[in-house]
Amino acid sequence: MPDDTRVVYRIPKSSQTSSTETLELARTWIQDCEMHHELCRHSGTVESWYPTRLLDLGQTIPGDETVACRIVVSGSVVLSGDYATVSHRWGTANFLKLTAENMVSFKHGIPYSALPQTFIDCITVARQLKIRYLWIDSLCIIQSGDGGKDWQDEASTMHLVFGNAACNIVSNWQDASGGLFSQRDLRLFDQLQIDLNIFSKGTSHRANFVSVEDMLWKEEVSLSPINKRGWVLQERLLSRRNLHFCRREVFFECRHSACCESVPNSKEFREFFGVEDTFLKLALMQPEEALKVIPEGFEPSDDWKLEWAYKAWTAIVNTYSQCQLTFDSDKLIALAGIATHIKPIINDTYVAGLWLRDLPLQLLWNTATGTEQESPPKTVAAGYRAPSFSWASVDLPVELAYRENKTIIVDASCVVFRHPEMVKESESEDRQVTEDFFGPISSSTVEVKVIGRIVPAKVVPSKFDPSWRKGFWICPLGYEGEEPSTLEDMIFPRLDTEPSKSQLENLNTRTIYYLPLIYEQSFNGLLLEGVDSKMGRFRRIGVLSGFSAMARHIYMEDWGHEHEVESWRYNCETGFHTIYIV
Ligand SMILES: [Zn+2]
Repeated sequence: MPDDTRVVYRIPKSSQTSSTETLELARTWIQDCEMHHELCRHSGTVESWYPTRLLDLGQTIPGDETVACRIVVSGSVVLSGDYATVSHRWGTANFLKLTAENMVSFKHGIPYSALPQTFIDCITVARQLKIRYLWIDSLCIIQSGDGGKDWQDEASTMHLVFGNAACNIVSNWQDASGGLFSQRDLRLFDQLQIDLNIFSKGTSHRANFVSVEDMLWKEEVSLSPINKRGWVLQERLLSRRNLHFCRREVFFECRHSACCESVPNSKEFREFFGVEDTFLKLALMQPEEALKVIPEGFEPSDDWKLEWAYKAWTAIVNTYSQCQLTFDSDKLIALAGIATHIKPIINDTYVAGLWLRDLPLQLLWNTATGTEQESPPKTVAAGYRAPSFSWASVDLPVELAYRENKTIIVDASCVVFRHPEMVKESESEDRQVTEDFFGPISSSTVEVKVIGRIVPAKVVPSKFDPSWRKGFWICPLGYEGEEPSTLEDMIFPRLDTEPSKSQLENLNTRTIYYLPLIYEQSFNGLLLEGVDSKMGRFRRIGVLSGFSAMARHIYMEDWGHEHEVESWRYNCETGFHTIYIV
């Protein structure tokens, strides 16, 4: 082959991902990572930390080969050596789980015959990797018989469980009963090679090309069924190393590099597959660590660490909100591990998916459109789990606003919810929220207090109906001019849950409110509806933004009705109301 053939492809040595050759190769990836990647060693986590329970694969009963493993409790026996975790989809088939009742028998031993195939395969992998302990959620957290207490306790340690594991074994394609391994046709790995004469600037040279399947990583890993699951995002991001067992081959992913059986060189692997989602992994590092592996061209600004952390959080929420959860109520819990991990980097208070330092910007999330969805998204969250100002209150993909130097024109803070019976008519004893809320939040826990302008408006059917306006626009009360019609005068009203025709008609008859938060060349604000005028309470229903002089004229001038808005307090000198968003 000529010298300019750079891609080194390898055809896997065996047609099974369960083969000794494949698992030995995986072991060398982990060893290489342990020895050479400073970023992948324990960082921000505690050395020799173990989950409450583990499956011990080492000490089986002599002579009894039917026993696969047994449960050990980390506080009651001395453990030594590494453990691996497992990321898997539960699937619909019923399978063996830890309960308060079977705990004692599990401590004596769990037979192979009782385990689903994926768990048996994970035991095979761990043994081949010389890892003695395994952590599987359904077998290490009590699933029934204790009123959910163990699950609640353990859910708060997920960042430690995955962050301290030597490796996370990921069952990318199959559910618990489907098995980890796959059989592949090695002919699929044959490369098309082409010799070409290249003519350039009057000279010619011969070059040899090979075909590259550039979607390999995306199709096998990023888009695999397991990566659509909400819980798995934090499992994958918090793990130092992931071994992805996919349909065609096994992939390795650590904080420093990525590779697979057919492209074992990580530099080439990155060049060809991009591995864009590794940004999410970088996001969880300490900024100083991340700087070592950030591509050239990145110029750290004065407060780049904070910028970095917020950017990371933005990317994580964007990805996470596209994932699915079996239980909608898990929405904030399944992200709590990542939020806990990133908190020391952001160094801020966390409430229901938002960081409070830049609260006005954090409030400006919007529901993303045009996202690939397998099934039509549910628009209304089932049951209360977060206030309306939090993106976690909707079941749609969301985009957070980027942290930018914009002129914020409100004073916003997160305060403890005011119970009407506790508050006297004339005063509000606001207490700033200083503690974190990582899990779901009940409806009477916190609210956002805003001092700013609030503009009464109506939802009006649009005469022009450009596609981005969804058939309506927002008209301030008292404005009698024209509806903006041209592309240059674009305004973007976006409701958090896409209304049906009848809901839209209902909205048309009511007064809603526009609360400008940012005002420069463009403006951005929230759309609200009234909840309790006596308490000055409103609920978020959407966002509104505009960029043109006409849009600024319509939304930023007072059309004579602002002073009528019922709020907690109105300052007629500034024109500012005090309101609360629940
Ligand atoms: Zn590594």
